[in-house]
Amino acid sequence: RCGYVAIVGRPNVGKSTLLNHILGQKLAITSRKPQTTRHTMLGIKTEGEVQAIYVDTPGLHKENEKALNRFMNKSASQALRDVDVVLFVVDRTRWTDEDQMVFERVQYVTCPILLVVNKVDRMDDKSDILPHLEWLATQLPNAEVVPVSALHGRNIEVLEQLIAERL
Ligand code: GDP
Ligand code: MG
Repeated sequence: RCGYVAIVGRPNVGKSTLLNHILGQKLAITSRKPQTTRHTMLGIKTEGEVQAIYVDTPGLHKENEKALNRFMNKSASQALRDVDVVLFVVDRTRWTDEDQMVFERVQYVTCPILLVVNKVDRMDDKSDILPHLEWLATQLPNAEVVPVSALHGRNIEVLEQLIAERL
């Protein structure tokens, strides 16, 4: 089996960190600074009969006059077309307008969605996305929620298994 896996989410939720962990190599550039990933990056992982082609996107931004932002939004939207699985990555500590914007695009996707709740290691934060998660689950009936820590590699094998089952 072989298929495309799009990784989408607002800047800084940990998309590139997740891809790096899955691939076991530093392919995507990660940083605290948003917009570190300027281009769509591909990563291929083959394991036995399963080959997953990951598409790391620059993250969707609020549209503004900046040509770079427009360009990045365009490539992030294109990544949602013609894929087999969408990883909608959110940060468990914070839900923002930009997450809402990503949701508005993801809701039209017809392929399986894995709602990846990243940064579960950060349990000390005051804010939380739980109320939004409940709402999201009702809005995305074909999505399955997968809590992970991309930084600490927690639950990534489970995520990869769920991806493989959907390719
Ligand atoms: P991207 O913009 O979505 O690609 O996000 P990055 O992968 O560049 O990560 C943004 C920031 O979040 C970096 O400082 C990462 O180290 C941090 N980060 C990513 N995943 C985790 C995680 O699971 N836990 C914690 N605590 N931080 C994370
Ligand atoms: Mg990135």
